[in-house]
Amino acid sequence: RVPKDSYDVVVLGAGSGGYACALRAAELGLSVALIEKDRLGGTCLHVGCIPTKALLHAAEVADAARESEQFGVRATLEGIDMAGVNGYKDAVVGRLFKGLTGLVKGRGIEVVEGAGRLTSPTTVDVAGTTYTGRHVVLATGSYPRSLPGLEVDGERVLTSEQALRLDSVPASVVVLGGGVIGCEFASVWRSFGAEVTIVEALPHLVPLEDEASSKALERAFRKRGIAFRTDTRFESVKVGDDAVQVTVAGGDTIEADLLLVAVGRGPVTDKLGYAEQGVAMERGFVTTDERCRTSVPEVYAVGDIVPGLQLAHRGFAQGIFVAEDIAGLAPRPVEEVTIPRVTYCEPEVASVGLTEAQAREQYGEEIETLTYDLAGNGKSQILRTAGFVKLVRRTEGPVVGVHMVGARVGELVGEAQLVVGWEAHPDDVAPLVHAHPTQNEALGEAHLALAGKPLHA
Ligand code: FAD
Repeated sequence: RVPKDSYDVVVLGAGSGGYACALRAAELGLSVALIEKDRLGGTCLHVGCIPTKALLHAAEVADAARESEQFGVRATLEGIDMAGVNGYKDAVVGRLFKGLTGLVKGRGIEVVEGAGRLTSPTTVDVAGTTYTGRHVVLATGSYPRSLPGLEVDGERVLTSEQALRLDSVPASVVVLGGGVIGCEFASVWRSFGAEVTIVEALPHLVPLEDEASSKALERAFRKRGIAFRTDTRFESVKVGDDAVQVTVAGGDTIEADLLLVAVGRGPVTDKLGYAEQGVAMERGFVTTDERCRTSVPEVYAVGDIVPGLQLAHRGFAQGIFVAEDIAGLAPRPVEEVTIPRVTYCEPEVASVGLTEAQAREQYGEEIETLTYDLAGNGKSQILRTAGFVKLVRRTEGPVVGVHMVGARVGELVGEAQLVVGWEAHPDDVAPLVHAHPTQNEALGEAHLALAGKPLHA
């Protein structure tokens, strides 16, 4: 056992960023204390990525049953048993939690249960005990934000975390926020049979994506009967005994069983001693350089508390980077622009790199785009999905952005990431043979077309 005053690394928070840092640091022979006030695995494992994707898979199964006749299969959807759905979701989370717990134990990491507070650049206090490390890594994650005057009651007005625990399918829902989380829940509830209306203040759903992707998702949602009001500000909500009345700018009201608040996530950094110990902060987020170092030399920060994409795989990558940096391996910093983004609703939206608008802003007019319609892809037709693969490249130069919409396109983002991350030119990708019939072929064909050798484009 390492004395409490001489760890190499003390990690505060055991979510994606924190536990990845702890695992890699231990693997590199560093002594690690990992402090967690709730459960190893954090948001992603317990109330984020994993349970929502389990719901989305159950939703896909429901859609498959509902639409089975299109494939000549006679099945009927008799209903959604939320106890069963939750049992399946919780079993997936439980198995992964057990695996993670075993992994952390197996690597000899000291897990400290309790809420920690930074008390100096090298110490964290937990219930009166001080844990000292050569370095401290802050990884306290994020919480669901609300809007001024909008009170989450956990009954009719819910956060995403509360929405994961419903024991029945609501007949109708208003989803406030058309970003990733809002669109994923809207998609699940629609597949389960609810009437859904999304209210989004910006002009498009998934507003951080390429406009073409947003518009394609909007078309698909409209077709699925998901209503949405973009460019629409929330004004107020009246909570009754069995319904909510949501009023938007202009005075329209939408009535529903539930209101989901999905307007973004704020950093968990308040009252944890960060600012008091001189860690520079901006709007609650911890300021870091590209090496995840804060303004205090001994202190690093990773994950959702650092401004940028709030994604689990970004947290993992930053955590691993920090462990290697502390171990003196001089790793390459994590590049924000090559981090893939996926919205796992039906249809999926996936992307990596710059949107067309960002590329035009960055490189002026020297931009070329190519959109390959999934209508030309055999596997997409088998899956009966509509969508596209869009490439954004610098004229005569590398591909700087890939944007995709369609069923399961999240699974294609790995290849897209290699293209953008390795700054490949279409000519580099065009000779690589893609397996047939896969949706990956759409990526291959898009590159062929940009290289001047279109096949089915
Ligand atoms: P967290 O995972 O939030 O972990 C922080 C940990 O710190 C928590 O366990 C917390 O209990 C602990 N902690 C906080 N304060 C203290 C303290 N004082 N003392 C001790 N412990 C403390 N990302 C994806 O990449 N893909 C997805 O599909 C995806 N889906 C999502 C769906 C939903 C509904 C939500 C909410 C998020 C989703 N995310 C997804 C985002 C992802 O969950 C986060 O980006 C990721 O969890 C961030 O990791 P983190 O380590 O920064 O923080």
